[in-house]
Amino acid sequence: MESMADVAAPLATANQIAKYEAVIGLEVHVQLGTKTKIFCACPNQFGDAPNTNVCPVCLGMPGALPVLNRQAVEYAIQAALALNCEVRRKSVFARKNYFYPDLPKGYQISQYDQPLAEHGWVEVEVEGQPPKRIGITRIHMEDDAGKNIHEGFKDSDRYSYVDLNRTGSPLVEIVSEPEMRSSDEAFAYLSELKLALQFAGVSSCDMEKGHLRCDANVSVRPRGQAEFGTKVEIKNLNSFRFLKQAIDFEISRQVGVAESGGKIVQETRLYDPVLGETLGMRSKEEAHDYRYFPEPDLVPLLISDEWLARVKSAMPEMPALRRKRFAADYGLRPYDAAVLTGSRALADFYDEAAKTSGDPRLTANWTIGDLQGLLKGAGKEIEDSPVSAARLGELVAMVANGELTGKLAKDVLAKMFETGESAVSIVEREGLKAISDTGVLEKIAAQVVEANPKQAEQYRSGKTSVIQFFVGQVMKATRGQANPAAATEALKKLLG
Ligand SMILES: [Zn+2]
Repeated sequence: MESMADVAAPLATANQIAKYEAVIGLEVHVQLGTKTKIFCACPNQFGDAPNTNVCPVCLGMPGALPVLNRQAVEYAIQAALALNCEVRRKSVFARKNYFYPDLPKGYQISQYDQPLAEHGWVEVEVEGQPPKRIGITRIHMEDDAGKNIHEGFKDSDRYSYVDLNRTGSPLVEIVSEPEMRSSDEAFAYLSELKLALQFAGVSSCDMEKGHLRCDANVSVRPRGQAEFGTKVEIKNLNSFRFLKQAIDFEISRQVGVAESGGKIVQETRLYDPVLGETLGMRSKEEAHDYRYFPEPDLVPLLISDEWLARVKSAMPEMPALRRKRFAADYGLRPYDAAVLTGSRALADFYDEAAKTSGDPRLTANWTIGDLQGLLKGAGKEIEDSPVSAARLGELVAMVANGELTGKLAKDVLAKMFETGESAVSIVEREGLKAISDTGVLEKIAAQVVEANPKQAEQYRSGKTSVIQFFVGQVMKATRGQANPAAATEALKKLLG
């Protein structure tokens, strides 16, 4: 439904936008990584031939009865705990009735007035602003619909097809409070939410594969006004970039409508990434349009204290806590701590390497710098690193205690990456051990000073930075094997 206001109103200028405040809430659907679907034993997997992972239950055949997947409930509880929610001991499934070709039952099984979890929060940080908590209203469980396929067949110009392999996949819907005020905050919220769920291990959260889907509710109000403006729901935000672009466009559009005396219509809009615009799709449904009622084929979901306690005790450390621990215990800069908690695999890798090396900050440099560089070059993720965390830790330990110079360690790491060998065996075989022997270094230092009288003179007349030149010469003479600290010591002694 295209409203008149859309067509007529120009986008707002920056000055106009500054007079308003945006109010943003997100509804995020996350597909849980179970082996089977939520109410039947069909595989919960994709890429198979269309309509092969189906059965009478997920096809909505009359008389077929759903059975709740215990693992799906457990993942949903983990998602709730990862997002600081209170898990309700009793929740109730409900039918959400609507007609769509990819929904063979004619209703979705969801949860309505008694959801699985409530009252959560995520702490987000936008650069240059203090941390802010965004509330989570509720998390509920539901089954997914199938997929309509509009292209890819030779008669696709005339027909659309339906693939029901996804029908009945387990989802959680995570509804935030309308507490975000900018596209940057929305971006930060979704990033932190995704990371927390990945750490909890409940979903891959791969947006490209549709494992994480996001709708945004956006409204604007004049600054200082307490009540909310009319909200518009934006769908089809299938990347972080589109989420940000769509929200910014929508704020500008709504302010433009308001500033030119128009009225914002409550509706659902679709983001078009090619145009970079949101387009009116349909007037927004109200909850009563869905005729919710308790699902008669499922008993209420009861979660015992024991079950909840068991899930709680098995929860891994969440990314926010891990960042704090890396900063406090390992002395990492906030930036490095954030990079190293970019995924659970990377955080686990770094943690183990740091413990092995005994020098967490140096380990951070080697993990973020050289190792990530090698991985990137080989198109690999940290999970597939040919250098294990323990082996990287051993290498860093050798650098930290002066057995191997930083320069040679780079070459050693490259060889470890290629062959999977340990640093110790490469260093021994190739005779790369650092030269720390004072007698040997003094002899080399003497030769270097003698060969460069001009620089020696400069040093003695006060230009002490020339020492770097001499250290470089000693390194060259030893093919990078001189321990730089010991070499500097020897040179200083010699140069007076
Ligand atoms: Zn099935």
